[in-house]
Amino acid sequence: MRAFVLTAPREYAVQEIPVPVAAPGEAIIDVERVGVCGTDVEFFNGEMAYLQEGHARFPIRLGHEWCGTVSRVGDGVDPTWIGRRVMGDTMLGDGVCRRCRRGHHHVCAQRQEVGVRGGRAGALADKLAVPATSLHLLPDTVDPVLGALVEPGGNSLRAARAARVGLGHRLLVLGPGTIGLLVAMFARAAGAEVHLLGLSQESLDFAHSLGFDHVWTEADLPGLPFDAVVDASNAAALPARALDLVEPAGRVVYIGLAGAPSRIDTRALALKDVTAVGILSASPGLDETIAAYATGEVDPRPLVAATIGLDQVGLALAGERPAGAGPGPKIHVDPRLT
Ligand SMILES: [Zn+2]
Repeated sequence: MRAFVLTAPREYAVQEIPVPVAAPGEAIIDVERVGVCGTDVEFFNGEMAYLQEGHARFPIRLGHEWCGTVSRVGDGVDPTWIGRRVMGDTMLGDGVCRRCRRGHHHVCAQRQEVGVRGGRAGALADKLAVPATSLHLLPDTVDPVLGALVEPGGNSLRAARAARVGLGHRLLVLGPGTIGLLVAMFARAAGAEVHLLGLSQESLDFAHSLGFDHVWTEADLPGLPFDAVVDASNAAALPARALDLVEPAGRVVYIGLAGAPSRIDTRALALKDVTAVGILSASPGLDETIAAYATGEVDPRPLVAATIGLDQVGLALAGERPAGAGPGPKIHVDPRLT
């Protein structure tokens, strides 16, 4: 089968490799769709922190936002999984430690992350092997595009829920990328008045095209009371800015990661009586995201700008827009395309 492999920073190949065999407890997925995300770009550039920390090394096969159909299962796995459409949790805890036993497998110290950490190959290939315990069923109303958007959606749903906004509340989202726009969609579905702050007019125009009327740059951001602020940017200064902008007794949610330390002053946090929440991973939000997509409560499909084959992934990671790409921030890969 074919697989996209990063062999070193900015070096890659589409390789012909053996089809994976289902180990005990694992399922083999025929991959339908894979999202390319900022983490993948950090690997491409060699900047991803896990590379420095020893949690990941080249060569690496990326791909952690995926969906597909189960084609084989290993020993100990219910064979009725075969033929089911699924997506999978990126986070694979060891299942035995204190954190895993408490339901926090997404922060297991020994965890693998599919396509990210611990040598667990990702979905940028014809087929993917994952533990059956990481699978989540997709209903028929969740098509392959939505299926590959469940993982970023789960992160975003958790951020939107952590902001605790609904009818009568005003939310500001910093950073109108995929995660920021998804947070905005989930918060809007919950009834909140959603504002977005961005840098480029193109990204703000795109947010506006999704029905968000309150889109701003720093130059024109109105001095409104924001009940919650979500930082979904990669700017080191914005976590502190979020704390400046939020109303006293409000909530700040940190889901974006900067390439440099992004500090806040806890005196401001205490004196404003603000609650701060950090979000890593989609895991506890996956099922609720699938349900929101299945009912059409949230439909993020316009975020996908283009769907490319494995041969175009390297150029996409290098920042090149595929020919004919739409204005959305997300690139999808269909390994079956040549
Ligand atoms: Zn664990």
